[in-house]
Amino acid sequence: MAMTTKRAKIQTTLLFAALVAAVVTGQVIHGLGGTPSGFWQVTGDFLLVRPLQMLVIPIVFLSVACGIASVGGPSKLGRLGAGTVFLYILSMLIAAALGAALIEFFAPGVGVAAETRDALMDQANREFAADATRAQRMQDAQGTGVGGAWLGILSQIFPRNPLKDIVEGSTMAAITAAILLGLGLAAAGERGRPALEILQSLLEGVMRIVGWILWLLPIGLFFFVTAVVARIGLQNIATPVLGYMAVAIAGLALHAFVVLPLYCMAFGGGNGWNLMWNLRRVFLTAFSTSSSNATLPVTIEACINEGGCSKRATRFCVPLGATMNMDGTALYEAVVVLFLFQLFGVDLAFSDIVLVVVTSVLAAIGAAGIPSAGLVTMVIVITAVNSTIAGRGIEPLPIAAIGVIIGVDRVVDMCRTVVNVWGDCVVAKIMSRVAPDAD
Ligand code: ASP
Repeated sequence: MAMTTKRAKIQTTLLFAALVAAVVTGQVIHGLGGTPSGFWQVTGDFLLVRPLQMLVIPIVFLSVACGIASVGGPSKLGRLGAGTVFLYILSMLIAAALGAALIEFFAPGVGVAAETRDALMDQANREFAADATRAQRMQDAQGTGVGGAWLGILSQIFPRNPLKDIVEGSTMAAITAAILLGLGLAAAGERGRPALEILQSLLEGVMRIVGWILWLLPIGLFFFVTAVVARIGLQNIATPVLGYMAVAIAGLALHAFVVLPLYCMAFGGGNGWNLMWNLRRVFLTAFSTSSSNATLPVTIEACINEGGCSKRATRFCVPLGATMNMDGTALYEAVVVLFLFQLFGVDLAFSDIVLVVVTSVLAAIGAAGIPSAGLVTMVIVITAVNSTIAGRGIEPLPIAAIGVIIGVDRVVDMCRTVVNVWGDCVVAKIMSRVAPDAD
């Protein structure tokens, strides 16, 4: 344990140093007017994201199967499963409501001059059209609407052919298959034990690989963050968009520093601020990768070794959380959508705002734990509001309006991913009481 803590401290320091160095280098490159070459991005991808992503599916599968099989007894399993899902949905609802309240209160999109709005919309159309695949995905999401979004989530949870979906990278299919196998092995008792032991030793082996990869992260983070900072720079962001960013980032900070630690305490998980400090390595990884999935190996390792979470709870809660629990994304969806409606001068009723909060949670559940996923599922929220306001004869918001915030989305994505992952850790800590390691 002492060795682990010392190693974690060194790794955390290296990650911090790499982050600072990357921000400075990125700004210098941007200031020199040089567009960053793909070199930074690609190197970062190979050193940071790919090594982690490679391990995601095996870890999800092994850790959920071992977690489920070792919890012991159907009543404990039921409490762990239902408790986790309840805590995830409740925290996402709180996050989305907080985002909605903040954006309605500060209203950075209200009263923007028509010329500014037209200029923003011109830019939005260009941004929207720049990535044809993403634009297509958004159009598709618009076509299927809220009902389609539910169906999409359900068909991920109940795949026809889990193996096919797992091979294609669906973490949800891996979770379903692992839950079933874990339940089966637990029910088989003694006869299930050999298979379970094999799965457990495979998991030990994979976690060793995670330990090695952690040493690569600081270098990968340096390249990746340098690429982002050099590309975006901090100038030239239009004032209303800056207002939106400020509200989104302040909301995320409030949720992370106040709401989630209190949530942790209120549900018996102990001092949330301590937990947060102990897990800072996880947040640096989430921040630089913008991906809950890619961060997953680090989250599991750190929750167990530094967060004092039980292995049993962590192995179940964290993979499930990386897939379905996204507090940061729920908050962000509500903030963006209400901001865009403000910008386009649409007056929403209170019931529309409630609809935004609820559909933002749905859109967050539906978003995969990868960069920019929330940007695409936001279409679900806009479509839902559009169809209710259409009944009142109000012009719908064009989907291309999302382009207004695309330019700054990466930075917000980095921040919301941290909050997404932090929410998973809090629930793993709370659930460690329901599923302790020794009983
Ligand atoms: N990047 C986020 C995540 O991986 C998802 C999103 O785009 O909101 O958690």
